[in-house]
Amino acid sequence: MALLDVIKAPDPRLKQIAKTVSKVDDAIRKTLADMLETMYINDGIGLAATQVGIDKRLMVMDLRDGPNEEPNPFKMVNPEIIETSDQTKDAEEGCVSLPYQYAKVRRSTEITVQYLDESGNEKKLTAHGLRAACIQHEIDHLDGILFIDRISSLKRNMIIRRLMKEKKANVYA
Ligand SMILES: [Zn+2]
Repeated sequence: MALLDVIKAPDPRLKQIAKTVSKVDDAIRKTLADMLETMYINDGIGLAATQVGIDKRLMVMDLRDGPNEEPNPFKMVNPEIIETSDQTKDAEEGCVSLPYQYAKVRRSTEITVQYLDESGNEKKLTAHGLRAACIQHEIDHLDGILFIDRISSLKRNMIIRRLMKEKKANVYA
């Protein structure tokens, strides 16, 4: 396994729409394993391939029910939301591509996602609450959308300014 570099916003690569995977092969399985390792090391609960500069519709997530729970990783190829609840909820989100930035984002409270697992089998998952929000957040990445694109422009610009400052500080450090 290998750690991948997480792209930090603002970056045009985060605006790209990722391509559908035509075949789930060993290269895809290795990428998913690397993404999961990268997600854990960055303390994330989800990661999309777009965030590590890979132009493929892949995402990983691991949401445990509590700190003592066993790891519960999901690896999804070509995830697609096929059902969403009418009910929505505002909840705070963060993102490893936007370090230390948080904002409340409105999402559907329940969704059903269809995807291929790492063996290429078609799967469906109905998710609620935080897990539903996480899947919507990661699929947004695959469509070139960041969580700050779903908040007011005032708050978005504030966060972008902070991120640019952070990037400049890192360049000259
Ligand atoms: Zn994210």
